[in-house]
Amino acid sequence: MQTSRPEEILKTVFGYDSFRPFQREIIEAALAGRDCLAVLPTGGGKSLCYQIPALVLPGTTLVVSPLIALMRDQVSALTAAGVDAAFINSSLELEERREIEARVRAGAVKLIYAAPESLSGERLLSLVDAAPPALIVVDEAHCVSEWGHDFRPEYRTLGALRERYPRAAWLATTATATERVRVDIARCLGLRDPAVFLGGFDRPNLRISVERKLELRRKVVRFALSRPDQSGIVYCGSRRKTEELAEALRGAGVLAGAYHAGLPSEERSRVQEAFVRDDLLVVVATVAFGMGIDKPDVRYVVHADLPKSVENYYQEIGRAGRDGLPAECVLFYGAGDVMAASRLFESLDEDQRRAAMARLDAMRDYAESDLCRRAVILDHFGEAREERNCGACDNCLSGPRETADLSVPALKFLSCVKRTGERFGAAHVVDVLLGEETEKVARFGHAALSTFGIGTELGRQDWLALARRLAATGHLVRDPERSTLSLGAPAYSMFKEKPPYPVPVDAIGGGSRAGSGVDRALGSKRSRRRLGEERPFVRSSDDGDGAAEELFMALRALRKRLADEAGVPPYVVFPDRTLKEMATSRPQSEEELATVYGVGRAKLARYGDAFLELLAR
Ligand code: ADP
Ligand code: ZN
Repeated sequence: MQTSRPEEILKTVFGYDSFRPFQREIIEAALAGRDCLAVLPTGGGKSLCYQIPALVLPGTTLVVSPLIALMRDQVSALTAAGVDAAFINSSLELEERREIEARVRAGAVKLIYAAPESLSGERLLSLVDAAPPALIVVDEAHCVSEWGHDFRPEYRTLGALRERYPRAAWLATTATATERVRVDIARCLGLRDPAVFLGGFDRPNLRISVERKLELRRKVVRFALSRPDQSGIVYCGSRRKTEELAEALRGAGVLAGAYHAGLPSEERSRVQEAFVRDDLLVVVATVAFGMGIDKPDVRYVVHADLPKSVENYYQEIGRAGRDGLPAECVLFYGAGDVMAASRLFESLDEDQRRAAMARLDAMRDYAESDLCRRAVILDHFGEAREERNCGACDNCLSGPRETADLSVPALKFLSCVKRTGERFGAAHVVDVLLGEETEKVARFGHAALSTFGIGTELGRQDWLALARRLAATGHLVRDPERSTLSLGAPAYSMFKEKPPYPVPVDAIGGGSRAGSGVDRALGSKRSRRRLGEERPFVRSSDDGDGAAEELFMALRALRKRLADEAGVPPYVVFPDRTLKEMATSRPQSEEELATVYGVGRAKLARYGDAFLELLAR
């Protein structure tokens, strides 16, 4: 039945002109019956990688998905594109389930989304047996691994499907998987010599910045008000804060709602649904919100509090801009945040607490870094970082800053790390440099070291900031589990060649009291900009001509009406990018409309007239 080529389906069904990185390769591998493991970033377009093969291959493609909300969205999007798809999970009424089962029995359904539990029973599988799947997809495959951040024991039983459908190819997809998790996925699912595709983690359309946390409420309100029609998520560290901020936003006239695990589940579903439907533009939430939100047009993610780790942070901001259009990510960071976050670790046992602290330290390093944010994140995930100006983070955009040579303090710090045996954290090394007679200094006899007390030119906070910078530049290597410091290769060339170590004068001492030791050490004036100082927010939407903007708003209103009539989220009718293209190219005929991004056959037939009519006016 291999009548259509993947490219044709891409255009006629989904309305897209070209594949994104790896999509073609993954589709071809799946069509060839090869097991695959695809690690692509959020918004990378994983769904198409199995939806297109599902339309080409015989039988019904099974898609295992952990989240009910996600299944429902995917199925409405497919239905809108004219693809027969269904989901089976515990949320279905008996009637609905019967109706779906009849369609499956008739062999009409090309894709079935199912929760892992549904696949361990007979009911669904015996239906599928009539047209056995040629492709089995495991979405969010990291859930199979205990090393992942979202282990789900039900995933462990999926391997059994292999015996039942020995000829099916398997495709496991996820957005986050370390080496260890990847190995686990392949093993637990019994993938046979899988083709592994690793997409880059970079999300160039995200504009990333860190702002100083002062007058948080006012700033968040101002931020949302200056983006009146955009969807956004504001993450907070506590339930109480979500409600306060949502209240403040509503008071300013923003359609905002709060979401946290303490709310009744109906209220949570209501908020989630309203957000997806654009009836609620801003959700102020704890991290309980997000998994299962497949909304592609979230235009910003604001963090009102410090996330627990860089992993969490990147996953959370990853919910912005999945459609590839520009989106903004602002982290509000204040000196008290680390303390506040670490208070939550008090109940953990010693090892867990140390690991949690190390993850939080990495997050703090990120927040305080004056290097390219993107580079710091990619570096964290082990992706080679390029030394360049990314043009889309606050540090790169703020341009070159006044620097001073801190090679002398840097050398002192590095040699103190060496002399204490490369097995202590920064705090102890600083104690030694400052000549503090602590219990630990006494226990290890560190008062006898030549570096004891040689570092009084800087204050404690400045030394700690310098240590973080030395870690960011690779001179120091921080043990990810214990936070102890050892020397990296650049440290040895520093000992030998004594090159300058330029540090922006505002990078050190940024979070500490004014007039700290660094002023003395540098003998220089501070530059105007300090960490996270307030700068005017730049609107990211393209300020094209006013007429196009007006037309865009009219198209949005039409989309919202059609979506409400059909009972689907607006982006299922057309994504923002489609409306933008319509507003600028103003197609006047069906043929012209069909060339617009995201306009496939089914949507042309269903919505073409309505949009053409508006465009003609
Ligand atoms: P994820 O990898 O996070 O699951 P999705 O599959 O949800 O990403 O895709 C994100 C968005 O990108 C969706 O709106 C999808 O329709 C769109 N998309 C996917 N592939 C393409 C493509 N080749 N061209 C244009 N848009 C695409
Ligand atoms: Zn940058």
